[in-house]
Amino acid sequence: MSYRIKIQDEKNRYELTELAKMFAPAEELEFSDETEEETSEGASAEVFAVPGPEEMDRNAQKRALFSYLAEKTGVVPDWGTLTGVRPGKLFSQLSRRLGSPDNAEEALKKEYFVTDSKIGLLRNTWEVQQRIKCDKSPAACGVYVGIPFCPTRCLYCSFTSNRFKDDAAAKYLKALYKEIAAVSEMMEQRGLYAESIYIGGGTPTSLTDSMFSEIVQSVSGAFLRPKTAEFTVECGRPDTITEAKLKAIKTAGAGRISINPQTMKQHTLELIGRQHTPVQIEEAFALARSCGMECINMDLIAGLPQESPEDFEGSLRKVTELGPENITVHTLAVKRGSRLIEEDSGYSYRQGSTVRHMLEKGSAILKEEGYEPYYLYRQKHMAGNFENVGYCRGNTASLYNMRIMEEDQTIIALGAGGISKVYYPAEDRLERVANVSNYEIYIDRIDEMIKRKEEGL
Ligand code: SF4
Repeated sequence: MSYRIKIQDEKNRYELTELAKMFAPAEELEFSDETEEETSEGASAEVFAVPGPEEMDRNAQKRALFSYLAEKTGVVPDWGTLTGVRPGKLFSQLSRRLGSPDNAEEALKKEYFVTDSKIGLLRNTWEVQQRIKCDKSPAACGVYVGIPFCPTRCLYCSFTSNRFKDDAAAKYLKALYKEIAAVSEMMEQRGLYAESIYIGGGTPTSLTDSMFSEIVQSVSGAFLRPKTAEFTVECGRPDTITEAKLKAIKTAGAGRISINPQTMKQHTLELIGRQHTPVQIEEAFALARSCGMECINMDLIAGLPQESPEDFEGSLRKVTELGPENITVHTLAVKRGSRLIEEDSGYSYRQGSTVRHMLEKGSAILKEEGYEPYYLYRQKHMAGNFENVGYCRGNTASLYNMRIMEEDQTIIALGAGGISKVYYPAEDRLERVANVSNYEIYIDRIDEMIKRKEEGL
């Protein structure tokens, strides 16, 4: 069956199109405006005309399209008519605007058709966030530094990641040091400080020991201040973690790291292009603890190729046995630019019910183990259109992760692909200042990247 959706509303066309894609793969959907002639394919398709803006507002248009497609396809997305990346931010906004989180829940159910289970997740996350202390002054920024290199490219990767090469990395770091020095000075001049610092990637630990030590030290000197609440370094792949790097992290004053197994199943690790074993994950974790790392996050992905709900549960149980302070459960997103979408473009549509089981079981296990959700976000092309959730134990939530999703502070992003977002509290508005994503162009145009920040910050 295919569906021909007529949309006569230019302003809301994008959101309506994104909503329709949650019900059926792109090849089963056709979009047009009503003035177009029927095509021969269109004649055999089910046709639905979304009422125009003169008849109803955007939310009502989305509800009409949702109801039609749910009835025709039998698919009922858990997130209802929500197509955005940040449902948590919407929950906070609705709680403020409608006077209470109870009213926000009511609105999500009636106006956005969100299921009780996802409303419960949002409420739980919101309650944990109310306990997290952060500096709401405009001076408090998040600082992100990107290292766009990895040892190999994962099957599902759609990021700006490049295979690590010594000479390329050396040239990249030289440009990055220039940006770090310039941004540090800009922040001093403008009275800004880093409330949180995050070195991510790529895989920062794919650098050599000496390169790595130099960059974390440089970031620390440039941005770590007495008021800085947290400093995180993503270590990513266990086979890139060495004692020297962990000691460098500690010396630089960073207290948080992330070790990302994604799965604890050997076969899947091979399938997704990782070059390490589950045992190496456990060894890296033990090494990090022995080097004094007190706050460790571990990432897992639900919906990896050939994995069953039992495989996912097995991975989660092994990870919880290690006892990291944070666990982030991602849903596999199969995006353009990944090898997986080239091999199987309909993958995410078939994975819906498997991923649902994984996430439901995962959330129950994490609750039993004392973890609570503290931030969440969605991405396009996620299997089953679910979400990514960061869980924490006690007071170990990452401010950086929480605030970037709430979009209530300026985030300054350095390095190739870094997109800074300058927050204007009076208007509750963000303005983007983007670096180019190709690292070679970033090196060539580093002065222009710095100038963009001088003008935009
Ligand atoms: S570790 Fe992350 S950034 Fe690197 S290739 Fe894999 S998915 Fe991409």
